[in-house]
Amino acid sequence: MVGLVHDELFLTHGEVWHPENAERLEATMARLTEAGWLDRLERLEFGPASLEQLLWLHDEQYIESLKQASEHGGEQFTLDTMATAETWDAAVLAAGGCIAAVHAGLAGGPARSICLVRPPGHHATPDRAMGFCFLNNAALGAEAAIQGGAERVAIVDFDVHHGNGTQDMFYHRRDVLYVSLHESGLFPGTGSLDECGVEEGAGFTINIPLLPQAGDGHYRTAFSEVVVPALEEFEPELIVVSAGYDAHHSDRIAGMNCSACIFHEMTAQLVSAAQRHGQGRVVVMLEGGYDLHWLPVGAENSIRALAGEPPLDVVDAAPVPHESHLERLNEALVHVLNTHKERLGLGPLHLA
Ligand SMILES: [Zn+2]
Repeated sequence: MVGLVHDELFLTHGEVWHPENAERLEATMARLTEAGWLDRLERLEFGPASLEQLLWLHDEQYIESLKQASEHGGEQFTLDTMATAETWDAAVLAAGGCIAAVHAGLAGGPARSICLVRPPGHHATPDRAMGFCFLNNAALGAEAAIQGGAERVAIVDFDVHHGNGTQDMFYHRRDVLYVSLHESGLFPGTGSLDECGVEEGAGFTINIPLLPQAGDGHYRTAFSEVVVPALEEFEPELIVVSAGYDAHHSDRIAGMNCSACIFHEMTAQLVSAAQRHGQGRVVVMLEGGYDLHWLPVGAENSIRALAGEPPLDVVDAAPVPHESHLERLNEALVHVLNTHKERLGLGPLHLA
């Protein structure tokens, strides 16, 4: 059975007018309920992350300031990242849920889970809230596996934005491989090809920036040529997925051309990689995705992949870029993938 982490408390954080609002989760849960998934998923038990767990990766002063921000009724951390009175409780519970799903995967509970949580986490750095994120759920989940005895954990981040916070936390480490596919030029501006880790961690950060209007084929090629081979070499005992659904062509926060079936395909590829090396352990954690119709479809497609079922059969025609842009997009992709293939000791890619 696939595990589910969800709690109504995740709906309390934030403001209705903000793009990262409770409706995202309400719409997702409504879709899953209607499709009968709630009877077929195992609800995991979880509580808030402990202070000790938060301090694995976050700075004590920052944690204190976040707690106080909620106690004082709210605080604006950046232009687009506001804590409300409910943020602390929701964020600490979201982090605790993600940690619990990882613990379950390692300790004989469901090997595969989805955490439908908010606020999201991958932009949260050790000491800063930004990009709608406060606590780094995916990073804390990966660290929970390491603290629990795993030697190698991979985080694959297919949210359309670069997970700068997650990268920061593991940039100098070789026990957590961070792989991100994202739209270049978008917030937060990090995630270039040259950011590949430092010291012991050199080579254990893999950034795959893609030009706007990249679609399913580009993501598919990036997975088959670099993401999956990198996982094969790293042999993670568990894969954490920073699952944002904002690369969908209908998502107005970004400019990608993906259809909803790519989220099934990417999740399924990660499940097979985990079955070869990590006893099938995959924990999917919700990051972004702002289209209230397509976020739920994408999330259901991830669940279907976790459960070994085919993708939803929906009409979802992604736009095709202008020929001249497509050429530029393909060339940029080949350059990025070949640079990684060379670093991984693999032969170059030749696109037809
Ligand atoms: Zn995003």
